[in-house]
Amino acid sequence: MKPKTIIEPFKIKSVEPIRFTTREEREKLLINAGYNPFMLHADDVLIDLLTDSGTSAMSSKQWSGIMDGDESYAGSKSFYRFEKAVNNLTGMKYIIPTHQGRAAEKILFFIVGGAGKYFPNNTHFDTTRANIEFTGAEANDLLTEIGKHPEKRANFKGNMDVEKLKDFIKEKGAENIPLCMLTITNNSGGGQPVSMSNIEEVKEVCKQNNIPLFLDSCRFAENAYFIKMREPGYQDKSVLEIAQEMFSYADGATMSAKKDALVNIGGFLALNDEELAMKCRNMLIVTEGFPTYGGLAGRDLEAVAQGLEEVVEEHYLQYRIKSVEYLGNRLVDAGVPIIEPPGGHAIYIDAKRFLPDVPPDKYPGQSIVCELYLEGGIRSVEIGSVMFGKYDKNRKLIPAMMELVRLAIPRRVYTQSHIDYLIEVIIEVFHNRKNLKGYKITYEAPILRHFTARFEPLG
Ligand SMILES: *Cc1c(COP(=O)(O)O)cnc(C)c1O
Repeated sequence: MKPKTIIEPFKIKSVEPIRFTTREEREKLLINAGYNPFMLHADDVLIDLLTDSGTSAMSSKQWSGIMDGDESYAGSKSFYRFEKAVNNLTGMKYIIPTHQGRAAEKILFFIVGGAGKYFPNNTHFDTTRANIEFTGAEANDLLTEIGKHPEKRANFKGNMDVEKLKDFIKEKGAENIPLCMLTITNNSGGGQPVSMSNIEEVKEVCKQNNIPLFLDSCRFAENAYFIKMREPGYQDKSVLEIAQEMFSYADGATMSAKKDALVNIGGFLALNDEELAMKCRNMLIVTEGFPTYGGLAGRDLEAVAQGLEEVVEEHYLQYRIKSVEYLGNRLVDAGVPIIEPPGGHAIYIDAKRFLPDVPPDKYPGQSIVCELYLEGGIRSVEIGSVMFGKYDKNRKLIPAMMELVRLAIPRRVYTQSHIDYLIEVIIEVFHNRKNLKGYKITYEAPILRHFTARFEPLG
């Protein structure tokens, strides 16, 4: 028999109770939070889908690795285990541990960035963009056209537009492009994967122009699993082999271990160029720590090494990708508009189509986020004009390109019945969408306002 039911590929040894609240309690809690779920206490949330970053459940082997961690300042055995695991995956010679992804970015772009430099990517993640722009350089998104249409289905909506890359290099000059990046999967573009053939073509163009290719590899395992499922020629390869092939086209990689290394903190920078690696290590010593721990405890390195082995297991990835897909498909069946097809780590509700009568300056995404919390204790995040909106000279809102609500699924944390509950709540909110009239902002900080803004409901 070939079973149809995909089960969670783990047993649960330790549980963390969740606290139930009533709608009346949540109404008070949300008022106190200024209608901004970032300001809620996590304890008042039933199902927390704010992010998949650092929220993974670790395995019993990772926890025993934590106990086994070697806390020596220099030459820790946990570092050598970590180095071996990252080297086995990426094939890269120089492995530099950092405390998160953005620390790897900061070191890399501090060295290769600066005014007059350009960095193309499929879509830069916000910390990557910030670290590039902080040096005075420009961060440029060259996403394939279909990736910009939430309602259109395609297998690899995270691909880079190779023709645009060629034109971009001609226009800016190869000598002004210290490196080209590909973000796998494309987090800011809905968690959509990049195909192996796209990685290969981008590499070819880079090679002809002497530009190194870097992977922003936070979700490399989810990307590799999509390649196995969707790209001809990869069905019979293991996910590890596919991931190794992806990295074989790259000259370097940045990684947030808080995603596909299944840990709560950590990251790394992997490089092939010796001279660049020396410069990065020197910088690491100033900002993070000695090269064999780089801002992490020995036990964290141990947990990352173990996590990198577990994340490429196919039963894990099947459960992971299928449960996100199941959630997405059930919402589509009920008419709820989302970015299609479902991505690897999250479902993105398209708030513009969900609430067509609420214009961007009344923040349709924020309305849905608040209602999901009130209705079912679910915490999600607005990715739209609250997060990316700007003002023109007359303080009129310049809206974001899309109005989205992201439901990011933590790894190995929730089970099928949590997902079924979630579907029920979202569909209920969708049926009552006529009652949602939008929000206005009553307080905002000058930068990154979404974290601390306060709101009031309209109408
Ligand atoms: C999370 C993330 C980062 C930054 O990593 P942190 O560990 O949060 O600093 C960079 N790129 C992508 C694609 C990410 O998802």
